[in-house]
Amino acid sequence: MRLEPEGAEAALCEEATAWLKSWLPADYNDRIGDYRLDLKFRSAYQAAAFDAGWLMPSWGPELGGHSAEEEAELWIKLNFARLNCPKLPNVQGPGVIAPALLTFGTEEQQSHVRSVVRGDTWWCLGMSEPQAGSDLASLRTTAEPVDGGYLLNGQKVWTSHARDSTHCICFTRTDKLETRHRGVTAFVIPMDTKGVSVRAIEKIGAGDEEFCEVFLDDVLLPASAMLGPLNGGWKVAMESLSFERDMIWIMNLVELERALELTAYSLERRPNAALSVELERMRADADSICLTGLRGLGHRLTGRPDAETPVLKLFSTEAAQRAFDLAARATGDEAVLLGESAPFDGEIVLGEIEGLGATIYGGTSEVQRNIIGEKLLGLPR
Ligand SMILES: Cc1cc2nc3c(=O)[nH]c(=O)nc-3n(C[C@H](O)[C@H](O)[C@H](O)COP(=O)(O)OP(=O)(O)OC[C@H]3O[C@@H](n4cnc5c(N)ncnc54)[C@H](O)[C@@H]3O)c2cc1C
Repeated sequence: MRLEPEGAEAALCEEATAWLKSWLPADYNDRIGDYRLDLKFRSAYQAAAFDAGWLMPSWGPELGGHSAEEEAELWIKLNFARLNCPKLPNVQGPGVIAPALLTFGTEEQQSHVRSVVRGDTWWCLGMSEPQAGSDLASLRTTAEPVDGGYLLNGQKVWTSHARDSTHCICFTRTDKLETRHRGVTAFVIPMDTKGVSVRAIEKIGAGDEEFCEVFLDDVLLPASAMLGPLNGGWKVAMESLSFERDMIWIMNLVELERALELTAYSLERRPNAALSVELERMRADADSICLTGLRGLGHRLTGRPDAETPVLKLFSTEAAQRAFDLAARATGDEAVLLGESAPFDGEIVLGEIEGLGATIYGGTSEVQRNIIGEKLLGLPR
């Protein structure tokens, strides 16, 4: 079963899909494993999709869009996912940073949005700290008022792409008396400011997700570097992250669909009835993810609470992991190989490794289960 858009939405989707098909190289589907690791190619895709107005379809043309309705945007993104569109090299740019700047930024801060969305500059997100991950409100990086602005001290960790970023949106504690989320303030830090140092963290896998630690030692920022109000950083964090709700499950759907394609290909060569049944079940999972995403959008558009977000995050990330595991079992032992003799250019093992991160970032699976249990099902804490 495949749901499809109708009417004007269908026409816009067709236009978008035709663009994507014409932009992708002729050998894209044959060499997708190589293309998925090609950062230059993926950056070129981001800029081209922006210029053509298909990167953020519901935004205006000046920000990479077509001023499309939200529903049309979702269909376009879903269709792109079904075509295994290239993964953006720095998804946080358009997904979190740009919405944060648009919603809370000063005129000067907003002047960076175009370049962030198009991928011309990368910005990183400084939330997690060694002692503050799931429990972000326990962050300890401080920003103290001093002559000339604020003095920042502390450490961030798991800061994706910090080494290649020009700026960081950094969450700090500005009111030491206020514990938890009330005393948090966001700042925009140019990464070349004195006192900022970055150390890359080596990780398993071959993706380009460059993890870093960011150290802040007496970093002096003017008050104009504040993003949003003083002590209002919690709202900045929560609202910015909420923009990536659709991005995360659609991104995982791309992974899931790809893993199912690889599974189907392997099963044609090495038939296995039990695994074929699993494949069909997972195809149904992929469809139910799409349907749940559409239902969530329906709730949002009609002003009802969107209960689907934590369900989609949990289900899509875990389904993608299961799908790569299925692809590995369908392909055989050599699925774990990397290098020239690896089947599908090592895509399966890389997919399995990269998929582990997806159940951690944006709120771990355990945290999503807590939210579903407590907020949606009303279970006791
Ligand atoms: C690919 C990737 C990219 C990332 N990029 C960024 C980035 O750009 N910027 C940034 O700031 N951070 C980033 N992170 C960090 C990410 O936000 C944190 O890893 C995440 O919030 C979890 O925090 P933690 O690692 O400190 O684990 P912890 O919070 O210490 O959790 C450890 C374990 O305990 C469990 N746990 C924690 N609290 C509870 C609870 N209340 N109930 C049940 N179980 C619980 C967790 O599920 C987990 O299994 C990234 C992470 C990944 C994997």
